[in-house]
Amino acid sequence: MVNTMETLLDYPCSCGGKLKRSFCTVEFFGISFGERPCEVCTTCDSEFLDDAVLHDIEAEVKKKRIFGLQEEIQATKSGNSLVFRVPPKIAKFAGITTKTRARMYPADKSRIEIELV
Ligand SMILES: [Zn+2]
Repeated sequence: MVNTMETLLDYPCSCGGKLKRSFCTVEFFGISFGERPCEVCTTCDSEFLDDAVLHDIEAEVKKKRIFGLQEEIQATKSGNSLVFRVPPKIAKFAGITTKTRARMYPADKSRIEIELV
């Protein structure tokens, strides 16, 4: 696919590929930031946002008090299942109680999403 509106940049991607200006749909922590200007590598498809966009996103994320909620957890065994415990501050943030029901599905091999229902 060739888009003549796109300009190739004169500095390369870290993979050695060419970068072009484009627009990326930006989403962090489930928050959509819409279409933002970015640079996309024509070789490895890496997307790079510029500092101003990253700054906006960080400010927005902080405002929503999501920043800092990330926590590393360890699976434990319970019968035939494995259990990940929900840390208290994340439970509080999402309003999870012992009555909360959720749907769990693998997004890819390194990411499992839990949707509260
Ligand atoms: Zn690249």
